[in-house]
Amino acid sequence: MSDLNAGKTSCLCGRVSLEAKNISPHVHACHCSMCRKWGGGPMLAVDCGAEVKLHGEEHISVYDSSEWAERGFCSHCGTHLFYRLKASGEYMVPAGSVDSSTANFVFKGQIFIDEQPSWYHFGNDTENMTGAEVFAKYAPSEE
Ligand SMILES: [Zn+2]
Ligand SMILES: [Zn+2]
Repeated sequence: MSDLNAGKTSCLCGRVSLEAKNISPHVHACHCSMCRKWGGGPMLAVDCGAEVKLHGEEHISVYDSSEWAERGFCSHCGTHLFYRLKASGEYMVPAGSVDSSTANFVFKGQIFIDEQPSWYHFGNDTENMTGAEVFAKYAPSEE
């Protein structure tokens, strides 16, 4: 995992930024209906782990989007900041919001491929998973 980047993301107005030590270079697209509703298209995101420092937190609105995750955005400019898993505190951030160290980014996979509408397609050769496959692999186990 030596290809992880330390980096920073920021919003359009600059009031909010996020600092992470371990940004994965693997970009994933999520085609689920919620991501498409949220962003107007598939969400292209990178995993930042749980070691994340938020700056300008008073400007962050957090929307409780499901039982397992919440979505943060800048309440001033509306930029999407993160998708955060409740159980692990893990952050996924939009790949486009990362300001630095993106040279090694690779478009690696697509999830909820079964929810992708028929009117667009990415040409990259990626690993694709359906929603059911994602839940089977990542759903928090009930303890
Ligand atoms: Zn902003
Ligand atoms: Zn999604």
